[in-house]
Amino acid sequence: MRVVLLGPPGAGKGTQAQIIAGKLGVPAISTGDIFRANVSGQTELGRKAKVYMDAGDLVPDEITVAMVKDRLAEADAAGGFLLDGFPRTIAQAEQLRASLQELGHGLDRVLELVVDEEELVRRLSGRRMLVDGQMVQRDDDKPETVRHRLEVYREQTAPLSGFYEDEGLLARIDAIGSVEEVTSRALRALGADTDGEAGQPAAV
Ligand code: AMP
Repeated sequence: MRVVLLGPPGAGKGTQAQIIAGKLGVPAISTGDIFRANVSGQTELGRKAKVYMDAGDLVPDEITVAMVKDRLAEADAAGGFLLDGFPRTIAQAEQLRASLQELGHGLDRVLELVVDEEELVRRLSGRRMLVDGQMVQRDDDKPETVRHRLEVYREQTAPLSGFYEDEGLLARIDAIGSVEEVTSRALRALGADTDGEAGQPAAV
């Protein structure tokens, strides 16, 4: 299955991506994680991306699209994947469609995790991640950067919801609730829940 997970920063995409990809037996591919690994590894790509990430801006499409294209061409993504954090612009979505077409594929489903903005700010300002055994705040989770990232989401990424709705691929998922509740709503929308009928996308 080829799935895109859409949603604003703080909607729980990373957590859900890992769980859902595990259930589907496909790799979870997170552009944010790939960028962060490159920043830690001090690669050329990481040095370029860091400037934009620290400001809460999107890394330019020409860097991001080429990176995702290479990743999708790897063997483990041949049978399916779950993309987390990509596409984030209409241009990226069009490039993704072209890259998949070259490989003879298309997307099966786009899941949008829906959370209201007040809840997002609350979640992001309290979010910590484990680095070298310590819980630290991501540089781009600082309050002023959070506000900017939400603005960038509203302006550049939110239009993807309509784009994929027009393609008949979109399922909106209420992402308020426990991790398990949100996962089961997502799996139902993919027709991959163990209680539902296999292969039949259910209404969410
Ligand atoms: P995330 O972990 O998905 O919140 O991504 C963290 C940061 O990485 C974003 O704020 C962007 O600076 C950058 N990034 C991740 N994915 C993309 C993308 N698809 N396009 C541009 N920038 C991205």
